[in-house]
Amino acid sequence: MSDVPLDLDAITARAEAATPGPWEATRNGRILPPPPQLPSHSLPRELNPVAEADCYSTADFIAHARTDIPALLDLVSQLRQENRDLELALYTIANQRRRDDLVDQALRRPLLKAATKEVSRLRDQLADAAGMNQANCARANRAELHADGLRRRAEAAEGVVARITELHQPEKRYHDGSAEFSFEDPGDLASELGVEPEEVPFFEICSHCAEIEERLAGPSFDYLEALWPCATMRAVLAVPTNTPEEQTNV
Ligand SMILES: [Zn+2]
Repeated sequence: MSDVPLDLDAITARAEAATPGPWEATRNGRILPPPPQLPSHSLPRELNPVAEADCYSTADFIAHARTDIPALLDLVSQLRQENRDLELALYTIANQRRRDDLVDQALRRPLLKAATKEVSRLRDQLADAAGMNQANCARANRAELHADGLRRRAEAAEGVVARITELHQPEKRYHDGSAEFSFEDPGDLASELGVEPEEVPFFEICSHCAEIEERLAGPSFDYLEALWPCATMRAVLAVPTNTPEEQTNV
């Protein structure tokens, strides 16, 4: 390739100024213009050549130059345009990459870092919560079992209390005020004291405990252990009556 810069405008101007083509080379080295449109009004083109060369090869080169040079000029122009387009595309790609890099550095990377950190934090939290949930489930299961046990015991205890309460019932014993003797019926004492039967003084005994006491002490006895509420009912009444759930919550 030559180092001399090509002046395409000058080449184009020279090509356009020269005799229009296409040209034709003859065996004797002449370069002929194109055949005339109306041959009868012109000289034969062999008598009016464009140029004469030293040999056929040179003449052929010059004749072809008439069409080769405009074609080459078109090709150069087209290649230059393609080159400009490619350069522009490369520039755009490079710019886009540079912009991507900047965005990456300024935005994506910090965001990604923060997001990764947040994901890790949430994962830890989730693991903690899962662990806590497992522990809570186990604790809740144990509490449920415990409550079930308490409920069953409370139900059993209620049954026992019901049976005891059914057995140990208060009963009235009427007396004349001295309580030396007592009677199951207030009738005789009422007429003796001159009062209504419901006005006769009385005290209360436990029917069940009185029966036992009477069996042990014989027909003449004092109510000692059987006075109402008897020891058994005092013990029953002393038991707290709140439910198993209330006890669990305390
Ligand atoms: Zn009793």
